[in-house]
Amino acid sequence: MSADLTELYQQVILDHNRRPRNRGKLPTANRVAHGNNPSCGDECSVYLQLDGDRITNLSFDGSGCAISQASASLMTTQVKGKTAAEVQKLYDEFHHIVTTGETPEEISDLAAFAGVHTFPARIKCATLGWHATLNALKGDPITATTETHKD
Ligand code: ZN
Repeated sequence: MSADLTELYQQVILDHNRRPRNRGKLPTANRVAHGNNPSCGDECSVYLQLDGDRITNLSFDGSGCAISQASASLMTTQVKGKTAAEVQKLYDEFHHIVTTGETPEEISDLAAFAGVHTFPARIKCATLGWHATLNALKGDPITATTETHKD
């Protein structure tokens, strides 16, 4: 990745930390899931408004390190309007990026987290919000956590 692109991607993470998108409880949510990442102390709850299997609106709430919170914020902007299958596909792409550092050819905000692959302990931070959303889509109970998920 070029230095310019690295800088651009760092800006994406900083921007989501400064101005988290879709933060707070969503009163119209019909699915909720909570994830936590004990190794770093990150918490993330997601609130989905599902219409059929499409996410028509969502929000997140939580606390923790910059990577976990920026990733959850970015996730909300990426999955809104998507079906469960489309969300799974996006997550698979994101997981590939954060575990290998390989980025898609076209510029994608998801690639902002490519640097995470050099810090394996932080992969769980980056995927926390995604796991919570996938759990919410599966209709797991409100107390579903990401701890049992493998990376
Ligand atoms: Zn973390």
